[in-house]
Amino acid sequence: MQKKDSDVTERREKEIWGETSLMSRSHIDQNTYLNCWCPHCKKSLNEDDKAVFQIINSEGQVGISRVSPYLNILDRESTIHVEDDEELADVRCPHCQVSLIVQNQLCKLDNCKLMWFYVSISNSIKLKLVVCIRRTCRWYEMSKEDNERLILRESYEW
Ligand SMILES: [Zn+2]
Ligand SMILES: [Zn+2]
Repeated sequence: MQKKDSDVTERREKEIWGETSLMSRSHIDQNTYLNCWCPHCKKSLNEDDKAVFQIINSEGQVGISRVSPYLNILDRESTIHVEDDEELADVRCPHCQVSLIVQNQLCKLDNCKLMWFYVSISNSIKLKLVVCIRRTCRWYEMSKEDNERLILRESYEW
């Protein structure tokens, strides 16, 4: 029974991430804990096993969103009401309040705004991670250079 369940999960993951997804090519475990960093003030965004962001919803309310910092990001809690499919007005660093929204680029899946920040795993180099800000969308990418670096790098750390 156990096996069946994991098979189904695996198949679903494949559909979402794609056979040639970065994660399978670079051997990153989707359950790997990511250390997240603000690209502006360089401070850590992690706090008590969550990545913390300041968010502004479509009604202009300011709140705090706490996200599980794993690549399969689904589990989010926030201090203000956000619909599952809501496109946030802005996402900012909780330390320096600078916006993390990517300029001049939209999500390929739903034309939603994208946000970016740096991630690292244990002592690895910092990598630029771009993710869609819509909760129900799981699209993300890493910069091409980082992607290549990861694929070239044969490390058991990943
Ligand atoms: Zn910052
Ligand atoms: Zn999206």
